[in-house]
Amino acid sequence: MPKVHSRLDAGVAVLTLDNPPVNGFGLEQRRLLIEALDAAAADPQVRAIVVTGAGQLFSGGADIREFGKPEMVASPHLLDVLQVAEHSPKPVVAAIHGTCMGGGLEFSLACHGRVALAGALVGLPEVKLGLLPGSGGTQRLPRALGLARALDLIVSGEAVPAGQLREAALFDAVVDEDLLGAACALARRLAHAGERPRLRELAVPDAPGAAQELLAARREVARRQYPRQPARLHAIDAVAASLGDFDAGMELERWLFFALLATPESHAMRHAFFAERAAAHLRGVPADTPVRPVRLVGVVGAGTMGGGIAMNFLNAGIPVVLVEARQEALERGLATVRANYENSARRGRLSAQELEKRMALLRPSLDFEALAPCDLIVEAVFEDLQVKREVFERLDAVAREGAILASNTSTLDLDAIAAFTRRPADVVGMHFFSPANVMRLLEVVRGKATSPEVLATVMRLARGIGKTAVVSGVCDGFIGNRMLEHYGRMAHFLVEEGASPQQVDRALEDWGMAMGPFRMSDLAGNDIGWAIRKRRYVDKPQVRYSRLADRLCELGRFGQKTGAGWYRYESGSREALPDPEVDALIRQYRHDIGVRARAVSDREIVERCIYALVNEAARILEEGIAQRASDIDMVYLAGYGFPVWRGGPLLWADMQGSYMVARRMREFAAQPGGDAAFWEPAPWLAGLAARGARFHDT
Ligand code: NAD
Repeated sequence: MPKVHSRLDAGVAVLTLDNPPVNGFGLEQRRLLIEALDAAAADPQVRAIVVTGAGQLFSGGADIREFGKPEMVASPHLLDVLQVAEHSPKPVVAAIHGTCMGGGLEFSLACHGRVALAGALVGLPEVKLGLLPGSGGTQRLPRALGLARALDLIVSGEAVPAGQLREAALFDAVVDEDLLGAACALARRLAHAGERPRLRELAVPDAPGAAQELLAARREVARRQYPRQPARLHAIDAVAASLGDFDAGMELERWLFFALLATPESHAMRHAFFAERAAAHLRGVPADTPVRPVRLVGVVGAGTMGGGIAMNFLNAGIPVVLVEARQEALERGLATVRANYENSARRGRLSAQELEKRMALLRPSLDFEALAPCDLIVEAVFEDLQVKREVFERLDAVAREGAILASNTSTLDLDAIAAFTRRPADVVGMHFFSPANVMRLLEVVRGKATSPEVLATVMRLARGIGKTAVVSGVCDGFIGNRMLEHYGRMAHFLVEEGASPQQVDRALEDWGMAMGPFRMSDLAGNDIGWAIRKRRYVDKPQVRYSRLADRLCELGRFGQKTGAGWYRYESGSREALPDPEVDALIRQYRHDIGVRARAVSDREIVERCIYALVNEAARILEEGIAQRASDIDMVYLAGYGFPVWRGGPLLWADMQGSYMVARRMREFAAQPGGDAAFWEPAPWLAGLAARGARFHDT
């Protein structure tokens, strides 16, 4: 239950917001704060008021549990609370610690004074939800910080420590300790002087000419960096209005806020925000499931993945035992980890001292016995079931009781791997993405026998190392790569039929994907897909593949690592350059299989590639491999460069409408050369289409 505690401290009413977990301004909290402010104003013993937050923070802003519910827009609104504080007959001072974000910061801006602990994080993150600060943030913050710094905060959505804003008019004082003492002293001083300074009465400090120039430059950057996200530009427009009349600016801010609330981009970004939180809830794993402590991690294999996996734990201060089969592989792995850290140090992201501290946490070994004390051991050896068998049998022999044994396999059957041990309940998949120290996504693979405790522990740990974890059941490719295979297949067919790799990449990148499929394949290595296809030709002869990519690989064009793939690369450069040799190869291939090239529209490219993701996702839902549609969206948002402002493949499908998506798939099935078997809408999707329902209703 939200509460506002009130106590008297020598003439100052100290009001403490108490609404765990983030002291959010939900309806009840808004009501209680107004009542507490009114009561303090009416109390003759009170000369001034200090508002602070209970626990670790001041306030995280809006109460997200109210998003989309009637309470969110019910009276009193946050703006009303701000009005009451700003017009209080007694000075109101905000005492800020921990975090002060969004509506929390906007509230403090309406107070008559602000005191913060130097380490308190302040920010207005609304643009990350496709919105802008809607309670005066765009009007008061520029008056307190000047245009440039206000724009930095509002347009980036990033939080900064209060200590960095020390010299600006935002804070009356930034202190290192005794926050409440300093806030009460300021409140008393203001009461004594009879002052209630209001930011709304200040003018933005920038000179008008320079201000216009700055705004134009920022608009230019926002247009370039976020071409399809209206929130940034609207936020700049709202900030621009702070140069004029305060009330007019407030009106524009309000108007723009509600305009953004209705955009598909904001809808998608809010969906992504909730999808990330929903992914942490696992079927059959109650929130109070005990978790095991993970104080020491083992990693087996120091190749491409092992080193990056180890870095995740070192970065979080968890020591890692890194075990290899061969001395030179171990040395190479260690050198790569060090080189990565040195790279960060060169860019100023890591101090020399911190670098050495992290390296000191790494304990290399050629002996499996060194893994005996580990709480979690992540295997990242060759993708070969016999090698995995050997490793897991040895891990089973050396690992202590209760240790979690994880495999980073991308394609092998986790249940088979678990069966190599006498403790399948302790075996889980931790599918990291390359580069493992950078990519945000972690697919947590739940085997038949994986225990709830092991799952809960891995999910908790994932959060601790900054990963977005999504649970997948056991199947070939898990959620992400299983879907990607069909996306890639479609991209190849489109080229077979008449598009160029450049057109396919450009169409999907213009649509919002971070990287088109051919550039991505050149980056990852075309030989990886080739190896998978060769297996498929034997295992799944019924699935159609274009053989064009095989011809490319037969020429040794594996991508960036060989200087040539679907594109050519100049030595030392990653820039993908069109290559007439590839054009000739494609022409010859079409000729050989008797295809006459046709014009393929960008729309068809996008629809066939994205709908391929959607149809396979529907099968994944049907099989229970993914727990919910939003988990699938999260996999694509966190691991495959899917644009957050489109919300993920299934949100996009929902926005098009299930009926129309299924109808379009049937059109693709009927196209000459179309893959009719694949395009038959999956039963799950067909069911939604029949009911006019959405993926996210289920
Ligand atoms: P890699 O070939 O780069 O590295 C494997 C390392 O394991 C080698 O250094 C090898 O010496 C070592 N090794 C082999 N047998 C061993 C043993 N018995 N004991 C100790 N060490 C041993 O391979 P990688 O690309 O890092 O892939 C490792 C695993 O991660 C595979 O299961 C792969 O499917 C998976 N994976 C790879 C990627 C990727 O993009 N490379 C992405 C996700 C998952």
